[in-house]
Amino acid sequence: MRLDALIFGGGAAGLWLLDRLSRDGHHVLLLEARSLGSGQTVASQGIIHGGLKYTLSGLLTKSAKNIREMPNVWRDSLLGKSTPNLTRTRVRSDCCYLWQTDSLTSRAGMIGARIGLRIKPETISMDERPDALNGVYGTVARLPEQVISPQSFIQDLANQYRDRILKIDADKGLEFDLDSPGEVKSVRLVSPTDGSTLVLHPRQVIFTAGGGNARLRKRTGLSSDVMQRRPLHMVVVRGQQLPELNGHCLDGAKTRVTITSQMDSQGRMVWQVGGQVAEDGVKLDPAALTEHAWGELLSVLPGVDLRDTEWTTYSTDRAEGATANGSRPETIQVLCAGNVTTGWPTKLVLAPVLANEIASRASSPYVSAPFDTTPFASWPRPTVAALPWEEEGHRWWKLGEAPAIPRRRAA
Ligand SMILES: Cc1cc2nc3c(=O)[nH]c(=O)nc-3n(C[C@H](O)[C@H](O)[C@H](O)COP(=O)(O)OP(=O)(O)OC[C@H]3O[C@@H](n4cnc5c(N)ncnc54)[C@H](O)[C@@H]3O)c2cc1C
Repeated sequence: MRLDALIFGGGAAGLWLLDRLSRDGHHVLLLEARSLGSGQTVASQGIIHGGLKYTLSGLLTKSAKNIREMPNVWRDSLLGKSTPNLTRTRVRSDCCYLWQTDSLTSRAGMIGARIGLRIKPETISMDERPDALNGVYGTVARLPEQVISPQSFIQDLANQYRDRILKIDADKGLEFDLDSPGEVKSVRLVSPTDGSTLVLHPRQVIFTAGGGNARLRKRTGLSSDVMQRRPLHMVVVRGQQLPELNGHCLDGAKTRVTITSQMDSQGRMVWQVGGQVAEDGVKLDPAALTEHAWGELLSVLPGVDLRDTEWTTYSTDRAEGATANGSRPETIQVLCAGNVTTGWPTKLVLAPVLANEIASRASSPYVSAPFDTTPFASWPRPTVAALPWEEEGHRWWKLGEAPAIPRRRAA
């Protein structure tokens, strides 16, 4: 079967691109090896950043410039005013709060944050503070950065494009037939359920498989050392009495902690804790990280009662195009060789930029006829990934009772 494009990987990047290419009239399929959004997207905090994080040094950095239009792009999609239509994606919060550790440098960070952004922090009065920030000494600001549920975002797009998304066995059920390195002639798939086969002849092959991109590139004769991984060890806290909080505690040019909240099916509030804590956590085992995060939360949120909470951690990698010194790339990364394109969005919020970039390079669709997906009607479909802390067998502990277990790696 001839296709205009074949996408590998159904995280934020692949699914946003699938929407864009489908709307542009391309005959396109997306192949997923595990579950949609596994790796990074479902494990992410879902903050639709407007660049503030990247102005904390007081300068409008390249990263901030690239990201500052994104809150409006996402807001329009979430309201159904532009494509993709994300009206079924759950918005967990319409804003994030910013507060600071009581130091002059962090105040400077707050001021620097005002430079050149479309969305800016606004200082709020004591009465406007969320409960969680009641005990905080110093300024609190509200920033109109939305927080979405990444899992519901993936589910939203998966529902809209179910007929174009196929589950594959990337180890045993995938073969590339190459004309030359980076020039894919055809792709042969073996169904993971009944062994039936499918041979696809795509004009363009696109890898948006996050950490899986390196291996896919290798299999198509391309170099794999163009990707880097930056690990995070995240903390998750849950409790019936935990207040809702979405925001960042700033300390100079750093985010000391970033907290996002959601309710679980048992009515418990669940905090995902990232920021510097998760960077520090890479060197720590779950027990040591729990102690460290507890200390950090006590000092940045003195008014929050953390007794009767349960804790867990999860490890995952950010997968990105490699940079010379291993630091975070300033923006999306796209590589083209032969008929293979490889893309990393670098941030969830930049998925629209990546999709635009790849779509703008694509040739016009082969034919104008609608894409007939009936030949794949009986092919298995992937599910959406579980939240890392809701995966089967995931362990939780009370403060001081963390078991001696090795760190888990989600990506
Ligand atoms: C803990 C954490 C928190 C974050 N928080 C934020 C945030 O708040 N805001 C923000 O903007 N960004 C955030 N990010 C960054 C953001 O999550 C990522 O930049 C983004 O999700 C990457 O999306 P992706 O589609 O490229 O990759 P992924 O989400 O990793 O998706 C890749 C997909 O490809 C599939 N795959 C892998 N190999 C193959 C193969 N061989 N064949 C087919 N499919 C394959 C995987 O199963 C997966 O479904 C966070 C990242 C982490 C790790």
